[in-house]
Amino acid sequence: MTRPHLSLSPERLHAVVFDLDGVLTDTAGLHETAWKETFDAFLRARAGPFDSFSRQDYRAYVDGRRREDGVRAFLESRGIEIPEGSETDPPDAETMKGLSRRKNEAVQEQLRRDSVSLPGAEALLRALRRAGIGVAVASSSANAGAVLKATGLDRFVQIRVDGVDSAQLELPSKPNPALFREALRRLEVEPARAAIFEDAIAGVEAGRRVGFGTVIGVGRGQHAEALVDAGADMVVADLSVVDVA
Ligand SMILES: [Mg+2]
Repeated sequence: MTRPHLSLSPERLHAVVFDLDGVLTDTAGLHETAWKETFDAFLRARAGPFDSFSRQDYRAYVDGRRREDGVRAFLESRGIEIPEGSETDPPDAETMKGLSRRKNEAVQEQLRRDSVSLPGAEALLRALRRAGIGVAVASSSANAGAVLKATGLDRFVQIRVDGVDSAQLELPSKPNPALFREALRRLEVEPARAAIFEDAIAGVEAGRRVGFGTVIGVGRGQHAEALVDAGADMVVADLSVVDVA
């Protein structure tokens, strides 16, 4: 059921865990733009006419893949062969590693340039902290720290478990609940005393398995229904309809 309004109660709730992308921030468009900048500059520098990197290319070859796999898949689709290169290649090297690095730098640059905080995110985090409720972010993104810093949301986040931690600790990805369990362990809060906000089906499933007191989906329309089917107790369209009272 989609809730037009949701009040979180400080008496019952000791902590809230947030997924990052799609809940607190929006970085999906940012990655697409960074890929386009990278590949179009690369293609332009080669001799002859070229078709620029398109949304279809993004969906077919790079979205959801690891960065280097994305470079490989896109170049293969264009019949372009370049050397693999090495980790020390500069971002302008015409190698797989160089292009991969160039894309990562384009993302970092955009993070600095564009604020990507979603509606209601900052107000809710501020209200939670003011009410003495713990705030954690659990995200599989290795850029989570940079994203939080660029949006200024890092001020309100006590605990962050991100892609860097999950690689180090070898935590499996959602729907495995390991990432959320680690966040609660660091918060020192029982799952029943915590709520989770998630926009992904795998994330809602993971939240259910952890035994969060409340699993809140973030989404609209059909996606909202899918989140309820996956086990969300309730769904909100975005964080602007959530307050602490
Ligand atoms: Mg998400």
